[in-house]
Order: sequence, then structure tokens, then C-alpha cells
Amino acid sequence: MNITFFETDNYEKEYLEKSLKNNKLAFFNRPINQSDLKKIGETEVLGVFIHSHLNRIALEKLPNLKLIVTMSTGYDHIDLGYCRKNKIVVCNVPYYGEHTVAEHTFGLIIMLLHRIYEGVARVKKGFFSCKGLEGSDLKGKTLGVIGTGHIGEHVIRMAKAFDMHVVAHDIFQRPELAKQLQFNYVSLDDVLKRADIATLHVPLTKETHHIINSKALARMKKGAYLVNTSRGGLVDTKALIKALKSNQLAGAALDVLEHEPPKTKEEHELLHMSNVLVTPHSAFYTKEAIERILDTTIGNIEAFERRKLQNIVS
Ligand code: NAD
Repeated sequence: MNITFFETDNYEKEYLEKSLKNNKLAFFNRPINQSDLKKIGETEVLGVFIHSHLNRIALEKLPNLKLIVTMSTGYDHIDLGYCRKNKIVVCNVPYYGEHTVAEHTFGLIIMLLHRIYEGVARVKKGFFSCKGLEGSDLKGKTLGVIGTGHIGEHVIRMAKAFDMHVVAHDIFQRPELAKQLQFNYVSLDDVLKRADIATLHVPLTKETHHIINSKALARMKKGAYLVNTSRGGLVDTKALIKALKSNQLAGAALDVLEHEPPKTKEEHELLHMSNVLVTPHSAFYTKEAIERILDTTIGNIEAFERRKLQNIVS
């Protein structure tokens, strides 16, 4: 098959080449753009990470396209409606790094509550003092987990190891998991009211877009923290800035933004706020997780060739 990958570095290219050597392969180390589309008109299979926006305008220029393999769990960067209509199969990597993203989430929570990032920056400037850097313990705090799927589950496991209380919300509850890990399912409103730290682990859909808006932020405890390692579109950036400026929230840690890289005035303002931590959508990015992503992606392509589809989201 004629397969084109975008957003792949040299290591990923070599890894994919080894397993897919019987195909005609092309690699680009950047996200797809309009000018690439003319060069790859023959492509039957397209492999992308999340920064390649596969909208109708892009997809119309690829008449031979039969399969899109996104090397991610989320697939909100692909026009699934267009793909369904035009019989383009879309496969994702449903899990590969639930503990990887959960670890990053906890890294951010600890950085925020122990003010590690401020301490590190201070010492690097030659100022060795803890004055003004008083933090808060995690032990005894309530973590509000919104979305108890693969990643949310691991976040809850880690919270329990820190002796935290957990309340959670999900449209599909897992009573066995709640019993095993000793947490309670409550309404979204109750999670927001009770959480000292709220963390988001739902996909970005029409229903979850701006699930954290000004109303939701007003329901949160004064001085609570928000963590988002899921998708930027879950949080209304303008409302978040207001909540941080008015001290309704004590801080926020974000691995994802509404635009990546940041584009709007508000997003740039957010990056420079002293009580906000931003990482560049790197929660998934460990050596082990990347290898699992590549293995599943290769499996998705081979399954398509054998007409035994797997991990279809279209
Ligand atoms: P998952 O599908 O296992 O879990 C998502 C959970 O959200 C499910 O339990 C589902 O029932 C719940 N949900 C869906 N819609 C909801 C709604 N409207 N209200 C309440 N709950 C709802 O997914 P996952 O593997 O845990 O990943 C979660 C998200 O994390 C992904 O969709 C992706 O966007 C994001 N992600 C980010 C990174 C990163 O690097 N930052 C990496 C992987 C995944």
C-alpha cells in the first residue's frame, strides 16, 4: 500500500519502516499542510498525530485515501462525518499510556501544590530561600476526577496512594472500580463543589466542549486547582483566566490548550501567569508509550490489509 506518515521523527520513521517494509512509505516530520496534499495524492493510508487537522477541505484532495491511522487516543482532529460518508476507515490507539498520562497529571498536581516550579526557577536565579513558597499537602485533599476511563482510573489509583479522597463523574459509571478503589460517583456539579483539585479525563466532544466554563468555575471551591491533560477545548480559556485573576482558582496546570501552539491573546496571557503551569501536550510522550503507539498503529494497518479491522472509530 501507499502509506504516508506525518509528525514522525527519525526514531519513529525507522521503527515504522522495519515493520511496514513491503509498502511504499513516505514520511514528513511536521503536521500536514495544504501544500503537502498535492504531493501525496496517491496515498491510500495516512498516519498522523494530533496536530494534523484532517478536515473536509484536506480530505477531499486525497481521492485514494482508504484508511487513516491516528497515533493518538483522541480523534477530534479528524472529520469523522466526511470519512464515514466517503468510506474512509479511521482507527485510533485506544490505550497505550493510561499510566503515562496519569503520571504526568500527578506530576503537575505535585508541582502546583508544592510550588516546585517556582522553587526551581528561584534557585536557578541564585535565590536560595523558601520564603513565600508555602505549599499544600495532597494527603487528605479531595481530588475530583471527571472521566473515569483508562487515564482517569490510573489517576484515581495514584490519588489513593497519596491518601487523597476521590469523587468522580462519568456518564458511564464503573461501580466495580468505585468499590475496588473506594471512591464515589457523584454529579458533575458535586465534583466541582467538593474538589480541592479537579482533573479532566473526558474526550473532547460536542457535549464536553467548554465543560469547564464560567458557571462550572463559579461552582468550584474558592482556592481550588484545575488540571487538564485531556483536550484544550474542554476549558473556556477566557473564563479560566477570570477565575484565576479573581482568586476563585488558586492555580491551574494544563498540558493542552484550545489552540496548539497557543494562538490567542488569552492563551499567551495564560502562559505567563505565575499560578499557571503549561506543558506542551507532552503528557503521552515517553519512550515506552511511543513504542506502544507505534506497535498498535502497525497492527491497525496490518489488520486493515487482512480485512480484519480493529480499533475503528469512524
Ligand atoms: P477513555 O475513553 O478510556 O475514557 C474517557 C471517559 O470519559 C469514559 O469513561 C467516558 O465514559 C467518559 N465520558 C465521555 N463523555 C463524557 C461526558 N460527556 N461526561 C462525562 N464523562 C464522559 O479515554 P482515556 O484513554 O482515559 O483518555 C481521555 C482523554 O485524554 C482522551 O480522549 C484524549 O483526549 C486525552 N489524552 C491526552 C493525552 C495527552 O498527551 N495529553 C494523551 C492521551 C489521551
